[in-house]
Amino acid sequence: MLTQAQTTRPGTRLRHVLLVALVAASTAIPGARACTVYGKGWGSKWDNPVWPNNAVITWSFMTPGVGLGPSAPPAWSGTNTLGTGAGNDIRVLIDNVHGAGAFDAAVLRAFATWAAAANLQFTQVADQGGDFGTVTAPDIRIGAFSFGAGDPAGGAGFGPPGDDINFPDPLAGDLALNDLNNFNIDPGNEGDPLQTGPGGIYLNDIEGLLLHEIGHTLGVGHTRVTDAVLCGYLAPSFNGQLCDYTHVNRVLEADDLNAVRNIYGPAPPPDGDISFDCTVDAADALLANRILLGLLAPNGAQFTRADVASPLGGALPAPDGQITMSDLIAIMRKGLRDITF
Ligand SMILES: [Zn+2]
Repeated sequence: MLTQAQTTRPGTRLRHVLLVALVAASTAIPGARACTVYGKGWGSKWDNPVWPNNAVITWSFMTPGVGLGPSAPPAWSGTNTLGTGAGNDIRVLIDNVHGAGAFDAAVLRAFATWAAAANLQFTQVADQGGDFGTVTAPDIRIGAFSFGAGDPAGGAGFGPPGDDINFPDPLAGDLALNDLNNFNIDPGNEGDPLQTGPGGIYLNDIEGLLLHEIGHTLGVGHTRVTDAVLCGYLAPSFNGQLCDYTHVNRVLEADDLNAVRNIYGPAPPPDGDISFDCTVDAADALLANRILLGLLAPNGAQFTRADVASPLGGALPAPDGQITMSDLIAIMRKGLRDITF
């Protein structure tokens, strides 16, 4: 669960560096627990339960108005407000400020970032109905309910079936936003201070929050690496207050990447499909061109998929950590069916 930012704390850079080093060391052990999981992690995975193996995961927006099953946290109340079109529908609240489709686009970006990070594929499907925590298909279902009074969490995500925390399996993959909280699509870039709203509270950035909660639904537990996406509270003994909730955080850190790759394996090589339509064509070349001209700031997934070539040439793909003319040319040639990779 990601807690709404409430305080500003000094950075803990040294701790971060040390923990990353520990994580790097631990990942050399086959089957080692992902990243820095404190207490019990989520720890299970979709599809083949053996780590690491790929997964093809279905997800849906939960049917508006469905209720809370007996396994849902007892303090929660209400019915799913996401998609109702009512005044407390988070999609409506976001789209009213940021334009039609803005909420869904932020959700899709969050999925795309995880898909680019590990050997994962996501497919959006129609929801089949059923209360929160009662049905197991689609794999991940996203809704919004009222968390307990005074609960500052922006959302909650439950891991795949058989998770280490022993959540009842009907909860597997269910993800709820707290419709009593405050949300936004922050205008800042990675690392910028989060915008504050009425009362001086930090507004939950939808993309960053969903990135965190989707991480849980994939089986990744909390870490205390300060600027990791999966930094979070777990138990009173766990000092999640080290987590940086006050800045835009939409980029997976080494700790997050180690965690998800331990479970699902690394993502396949970049293919140039920046538009995520499963083909490389003029649309991808256009997007690459806009990135190159500085007209489009790529999200993590787009960057990973666009970084196909090195200026030094060689066999493709050859990611070099930057988007250059070489990437644009390679994507254009692939779109023209002149080359394949
Ligand atoms: Zn969390």
